[in-house]
Amino acid sequence: MTIKVVRLSTDVAIVGGGAAGCFAAVTIKETGPETDVLVVEKAHIKRSGCLAAGVNAINAYLNPGETPESYLEYVKKDSAGLVRDDLVYSIGQRLNRVTEKLESWGLPFLKDESGRYKPRGKRNVQIIGENIKPVIAAAAERSGTRILNRTVASNYIVKDGRIAGVFAFSAREKKFYVISAKAVICATGGAAGIYRPNNDGMTRHKMWYCPFNVGTGFAMGLRAGAEMTTFEMRFIALRINDVLSPTGTVAQGVRARQVNALGEEYQGRYGSCTTPMRMYATIEENRAGRGPCYLDLTHIPDGENLRLKEAYLSMSPGIVLKWADEGAEPNTRPLEICGSEPYIVGGHGQAGYWVDTGRRTTVRGLFAAGDVAGGSPKKYVTGCFAEGEMAAHSAMKYIKESGPALCEPEVAEPIVVSELNRVFGPLDKAGSAVPEAAGRAGYPDAYEERLQKIMDEYAGGISANYEIYETKLIRARELLRILEKDISTIRAGDMYELVKAHEVIDRVLVARALVEHLIYRKETRWRSYQERVDYPERDDRQWFKFINSFYNSETGEIKIKERPWQDRAGTEGLVAWDGC
Ligand SMILES: Cc1cc2nc3c(=O)[nH]c(=O)nc-3n(C[C@H](O)[C@H](O)[C@H](O)COP(=O)(O)OP(=O)(O)OC[C@H]3O[C@@H](n4cnc5c(N)ncnc54)[C@H](O)[C@@H]3O)c2cc1C
Repeated sequence: MTIKVVRLSTDVAIVGGGAAGCFAAVTIKETGPETDVLVVEKAHIKRSGCLAAGVNAINAYLNPGETPESYLEYVKKDSAGLVRDDLVYSIGQRLNRVTEKLESWGLPFLKDESGRYKPRGKRNVQIIGENIKPVIAAAAERSGTRILNRTVASNYIVKDGRIAGVFAFSAREKKFYVISAKAVICATGGAAGIYRPNNDGMTRHKMWYCPFNVGTGFAMGLRAGAEMTTFEMRFIALRINDVLSPTGTVAQGVRARQVNALGEEYQGRYGSCTTPMRMYATIEENRAGRGPCYLDLTHIPDGENLRLKEAYLSMSPGIVLKWADEGAEPNTRPLEICGSEPYIVGGHGQAGYWVDTGRRTTVRGLFAAGDVAGGSPKKYVTGCFAEGEMAAHSAMKYIKESGPALCEPEVAEPIVVSELNRVFGPLDKAGSAVPEAAGRAGYPDAYEERLQKIMDEYAGGISANYEIYETKLIRARELLRILEKDISTIRAGDMYELVKAHEVIDRVLVARALVEHLIYRKETRWRSYQERVDYPERDDRQWFKFINSFYNSETGEIKIKERPWQDRAGTEGLVAWDGC
């Protein structure tokens, strides 16, 4: 089999051309136009990642009366007091500026009579966002950034203890890239497909999170020895059944009532109304025999139906098709809601790289932004932009301060050959086999199903009502080790399957790290997200700390390290937090 090897070099390689990656690219080109920037993107930046289908609101914006302090307070409250205060605050300081930048790129914002953005809540503003991704991609292209579409990053190039570039392969041709870079920004988003999803068969990838974001950025970081944080704060989305459409549009947009099958508004039974608690309350209502649960829109006037459908068309058209299919309107009958499978994501949850306020990871030359960066939940699109901006400035500073020491793009041949073999090893010798039915033993779909079954049953998936406890987690740990061994002989019939093979390999490593985090945190406050039913009691000593992990690629072991919680000024300690 002949594989073409392409060698490239750049100043800054950005892995992932989504929200954070594109914003970082534009920032670098605006600040230092002479800096060469190369975005490596597995899909096509025009319609890739979480924003591919569009969104209809900017979920993190400080409307009049809101401040970076109040944003931090809100995020803390929603996360039971435990977040990286310094990171969340640094995002809050930038939210409005990056939002205005998005408008300047040409995205339409709804405005009131005085020309102000039209709020959808205290920290949201309304947009016409179906084209948000093409708008962002166009800004990246205009900036002079080089873009390598349909190219899948597989590992970092590590040299003398620093990141010196990235290995990648074409999603379509037998082409292997060796990309030398002075600095690398990881912006690959979070991880979907770790757990068995809501739908199965042909519709199994109809999920809430982008199914192509599979945690490769986490896996690459783990393999390079980077420190990861808070994987145990999984994110579970409360969504509309079958189509998995977001609920904010109706919950905030038209004040839909959240009711059980008896028509009772049930949230009040469960105390605080945080995002995890809305999810948890719905699970509990089902358990108590009062399900299914709904968002009730039957009160909205007929005139609102069209507006709602338009709002969904710019983000999640599936639900509009469902209404059309059923001959229904939004206000015909209540919408059934469900919990999605858990995702590992740093934008809604707080899983990801352990970073400082400059979004530097613990490995020299590597920066992280967006859903792949940990410690700061609820960052959404604009928080990802803010992190992209911070990572961009830090990468430029790092290059400037390091000087000529970084200018040695040579990557030793044995290292190149070893990664090339790892990447193309699974490809069947013919390299052109037509995949038969999904689920062939030894091929990616079969391994994906096996991984998702383990995680669903033993690590708190949908079928387990998201509950976790020690003995099952220990079994998950054992089964994942067996899976990891078996998957080393995974096969791929063609290039499409080769991409899928690496996706599932990366997911297994992320799942292993996740299970270690879930085992280690022996407390429960992020209900459903991290529901340790064997540790229900409040214990601040177990709670107010960060659980971080390292992977040893020689031994295959994952080690856990605790880091203390700190306030924004860097003072360590337990906090008297009664917000939960
Ligand atoms: C369905 C949905 C609806 C949302 N709605 C809203 C909303 O209304 N308002 C709001 O403010 N926020 C919303 N969000 C959140 C927001 O979209 C995300 O937080 C944000 O887009 C994440 O940015 P990111 O750059 O980290 O990831 P992404 O934008 O997903 O970008 C990651 C990129 O990395 C690429 N990639 C992945 N792996 C590799 C690899 N191995 N090699 C190369 N490239 C790779 C992907 O293809 C993708 O382009 C929503 C999220 C989802 C999933």
